Amino acid sequence: MTREKNPLVGVLALQGAFREHVAALERLGAATREVRQLKDLDGIDAMVIPGGESTTMGKLLVDLGIMEPLRARIEGGMPVYGSCAGLILLCRHIEGSAQPRLGVLDATVRRNAFGRQVDSFEADLHIPELGPEPMPAVFIRAPVILSTGPGVKALARVEMDGAERAVAVREGRILATSFHPELTPDTRFHRYFLDICKGAV
Ligand code: GLN
Repeated sequence: MTREKNPLVGVLALQGAFREHVAALERLGAATREVRQLKDLDGIDAMVIPGGESTTMGKLLVDLGIMEPLRARIEGGMPVYGSCAGLILLCRHIEGSAQPRLGVLDATVRRNAFGRQVDSFEADLHIPELGPEPMPAVFIRAPVILSTGPGVKALARVEMDGAERAVAVREGRILATSFHPELTPDTRFHRYFLDICKGAV
């Protein structure tokens, strides 16, 4: 396999559910590297930012000097996928929060959007890009996207308080989900990201 067909995917491993992303990507044959310090960015072709706690992860990215170089790589075209806290870190606007972020995704996000009563839940999502079979999605203190810029495509939505809210979005090579595909055996979302990395979709 050439390098192009088998990208080296960095998985941010400061905090949160990174091991599950590594496992899902490796099941699909991708090479992975856990990113814990700045030099771990060298030579990676793509990046995954896992779920966890976005304020903690953002602070660590700044303290470790990774935030700016990672943003520059993404702005230079490196594919990135963020789930849950990872989605929050990608968004340009975070409702009511000045927390550190990459801010590369033209979207406004609301954290912990589903409230305390429904801390976590599962839903079957219809995602046309992944085929006709519904995708099982796990939401844990999940964010929703409130609004997006013109270049952002919503891949999946859920109904919330009478409004349809995006929970999976793509803007070019930036992919983000409110939910956690790494926690279910369905690997189609990770495959979709690897297809983005290969320029196949
Ligand atoms: N609520 C968390 C945050 O705001 C995200 C939750 C998650 O990643 N499972 O960072």
